Amino acid sequence: MAELQFFTGTMDSGKSTLALQTNHNRAQRGLVGRIFTSRDRAGTAMLSSRLGLQHDAIEVDQDFHFWRYVVDELTRGARVDYLVCDEAQFYTRDQVEQLAKVVDELQLDVFAFGILTDFRSELFPGSARLVELADHTHVLQVEALCWCGKRATHNARTEDGVMVVEGEVIVVGDVEVTGGQDTAAPAPEVSYEVLCRQHHRRRMTAARAHAVALGAEPLPFG
Ligand SMILES: [Zn+2]
Repeated sequence: MAELQFFTGTMDSGKSTLALQTNHNRAQRGLVGRIFTSRDRAGTAMLSSRLGLQHDAIEVDQDFHFWRYVVDELTRGARVDYLVCDEAQFYTRDQVEQLAKVVDELQLDVFAFGILTDFRSELFPGSARLVELADHTHVLQVEALCWCGKRATHNARTEDGVMVVEGEVIVVGDVEVTGGQDTAAPAPEVSYEVLCRQHHRRRMTAARAHAVALGAEPLPFG
């Protein structure tokens, strides 16, 4: 029986590496799959991992339709045995429902990989729908660590080095992809960091903890 499986974890938990490995293992056995991603760090139409591996991928934008795509491929005689879907947190609820339909009606295995919550520690809509619909949800065992050494369970966004908990949900890498307002101020430098829940709550990034340790900043309580 085909299954919809969701593999989730924080930003540095090795999801894209596992996505590439999942594809590799099946390709080695002679199976033919399709790889999808959305707003990957290496740019569009590319699945890349922090370990440096990468693979061509089909870009999933808001208008992409998984069901129609797979049916069209099968209709033209192409072989499709499984789908590997990275950055699934960026998919719409509709797109996740299309994936479930591909599993049920076409009996193809779907392996989805994505972050569970955004920098505000709220569920991404695509990830929420995956948790609701997946046959199995796996929390990745390669655990990222907070600067304090505890298990990192939360994703933090910093702008010019300061942690923020409000703003556009989707800002990838160092590039602002939303907005587009012409303002005099330059776009802030956006980056991400994984933290334990306590340090996410206290907005205590590694840089700030360092500043506190040097006595440059008082210790916050919260
Ligand atoms: Zn911590």
